Amino acid sequence: MIEQIDHLGIAVHRLDDAVEYYEKALGLHCLGREEVVSQKVNTAFFAVGEVHLELLEPTSEDSPIAKFLKKHGPGIHHIAFRVDDIDGQLNTVKQAGVRLIHEVPIEGAGAKLVAFLDPKTTQGVLTELCQANRERPRI
Ligand code: ZN
Repeated sequence: MIEQIDHLGIAVHRLDDAVEYYEKALGLHCLGREEVVSQKVNTAFFAVGEVHLELLEPTSEDSPIAKFLKKHGPGIHHIAFRVDDIDGQLNTVKQAGVRLIHEVPIEGAGAKLVAFLDPKTTQGVLTELCQANRERPRI
C-alpha cells in the first residue's frame, strides 16, 4: 500500500549551489548528504513537513542523472512513494501493465529499498517506490 509521498527527486548540476539556494532563499535546513554509489549520485536531503526533497548531483558521466541533465536540464526528476511492502507493490503495478526498471529493489539513500518504474508506462512521471530497509519482510 502507498502510504504517502516520501520525497521529490530534483536533478541539479552542482549540489553546493543547489543546497545554498534551498538554505538561503527558502530557509530550509539540509538534513544531510550522502553518496549513493548504485545510482552514481551525491544527494542532499531537506524536510518540508513530512515530505523530503532529494537533490541529485551526478558523480559520473554515465550516471542516470547526468543523462537526465543533458536531455532536460535541472529540475524535478522523480516522485517517490513510500510503501509498506515494496515487493507486493511492485507485483501490483506490474500486473496493472507498468514496466519495472528494477524487478528487484536496490539500495537507495538512507539504506532504503527502492525501485523505479518506467516513465513510458506511468503517464510520463519517473516513479520510485521506497521502503525503509529494516521493515522489509525476510523470507
Ligand atoms: Zn528518490
